[in-house]
Amino acid sequence: MYRQLPDTIKAEITMSLNRQIISENDWRNLAKEFGYASAIEALKAKQNPAEELLNDWQTRKEATITNLHEALTKMHRDDLASVIERSPHWTSRADSSVEAKSTLTVTQQERATVTQPASALFEHYGVRVPQPTSFPPTRVFPEPSRPTYAVCPLVIGYATSDGPGHQRATGSSTLFRGPLNVVVDTGSPWDRDQILESLARFGVSCDSVHYVVATHSHSDHVGNLNLFQNAVIILSYDVAARNSYRTYRFNDGVPYTIDNWIQVIFTPGHSHQDLSVVVKDTEYGTVVAAGDLFECEDDLALPRLWHDFAEDKTLQELHRGKVLTMADAIIPGHGRMFFVPKHFRR
Ligand SMILES: [Zn+2]
Repeated sequence: MYRQLPDTIKAEITMSLNRQIISENDWRNLAKEFGYASAIEALKAKQNPAEELLNDWQTRKEATITNLHEALTKMHRDDLASVIERSPHWTSRADSSVEAKSTLTVTQQERATVTQPASALFEHYGVRVPQPTSFPPTRVFPEPSRPTYAVCPLVIGYATSDGPGHQRATGSSTLFRGPLNVVVDTGSPWDRDQILESLARFGVSCDSVHYVVATHSHSDHVGNLNLFQNAVIILSYDVAARNSYRTYRFNDGVPYTIDNWIQVIFTPGHSHQDLSVVVKDTEYGTVVAAGDLFECEDDLALPRLWHDFAEDKTLQELHRGKVLTMADAIIPGHGRMFFVPKHFRR
């Protein structure tokens, strides 16, 4: 069922659907798909229309992960369908057959003979189901145990060209929720409400964030540092807590260790002092929040997407290569998280 999707996946989908696009191929088309056309006007007044829509829809018996996936695919929002496919709950036939059974009145005897699909059994025993081969490329989740850190998107960065020298953009902001709460980048100054809303959804208050790492000092990545008054803030060569500043020479090449799972590494190139955050043992394996070392997934195939913004292309190329060999998934500065294609891995 839709409600079983992890909060992190739901947040990524609703955040993207809330970003209105001219063709209305956002939450409004999904509302039409789901028979909510007459509610669109009322939903427009809401802060988070996509979430309101899906919260209502999830009370219906057809509210399965498969049906949401189908609706998004029908809308040609393959970007969002692939977010669902990334969920450990996803199998291509996902939940519809299981759900069809549960809505019938099944006698005790019938219950004993109902053969559950393998996917349901996997879920029952907490084993993650391998992904379908289409996305991501032949990725399998090996670990049945619970990951240490959850990847919680606060803002999903984007950048679209509006003509020469002009862009519409904001930077990705991500919370890693686990033994510590660690935020990487804080979006642009205009993302404040979005960040507060996303944090609340993940049950984390600003004051309970332990560390904030800014990958670099551009305004679309450091816009809301002052929300986190109790955090240790790491930016450039400074490790700061309130008025106490310590210098950490990242350029010596020694990672800054936050805990057993999280390290901050030096990955300059986009600017001269970029940092990336390596988080081991998440639901996606090792995730690297890399700031603008990577603009978006597409820049793997279209280097001009990052060349145009590089202060030192050679350095950036070098550090991109390093991160690609260590990460299972990368959160880029201006796009959604993507899995590293297999051929980059050692
Ligand atoms: Zn930047």
